[in-house]
Amino acid sequence: MRKGCSAFILAVTVWATLCIAVKEAFSYEVNGLHPINPVFSYDPTGSNIDAGALVAEGVNAWNDITRSLTVRLTSASGAANLCDTGKLDGYNTISWGYNTLGYLAITCWNLRTGECDILISPNYEPADLRQIVAHEIGHCLGLNHSADSNALMWPTVPLNAPPVLLPQADDRNGVCAIYGGCYRAYTSVSYDN
Ligand SMILES: [Zn+2]
Repeated sequence: MRKGCSAFILAVTVWATLCIAVKEAFSYEVNGLHPINPVFSYDPTGSNIDAGALVAEGVNAWNDITRSLTVRLTSASGAANLCDTGKLDGYNTISWGYNTLGYLAITCWNLRTGECDILISPNYEPADLRQIVAHEIGHCLGLNHSADSNALMWPTVPLNAPPVLLPQADDRNGVCAIYGGCYRAYTSVSYDN
């Protein structure tokens, strides 16, 4: 579903104004709210490198804009992955394995429970692992692909350009739309005295 203005449908004038205002600004597609547990686990089995730190960086790329969700990583092993076993186990798992589609990674989620599992191909190089994980986490958060080639949710990875490591404006707008607002991390705080 493309970003729409259905929330304003009862106020036609406002609806029209807002739709014109956002017409060119949003190109993400919303795949639906995924009421996931905000914790992802990483299973290193099958990885030919010590990739945990890069996986964590990809997961945490969303930390500063998810409001009710705080995407963070814990280590785990042996957890079931919906993408390769089809099993629900209650954990959001990032693990390694080939997929028959030949994609860099695939994300599988269960709408009923919200469990979201990511399977990364060991043949992901020369793409940047951090970008792959951050993109797939975007799917877990409810985003589909974007029509904006600058977006993290653009469906392909151009290898002749610097990797996109953080959610871009279109991605951020998508998550904010899904969750009804954006949490933005404070870079500094001040106290009363
Ligand atoms: Zn994708």
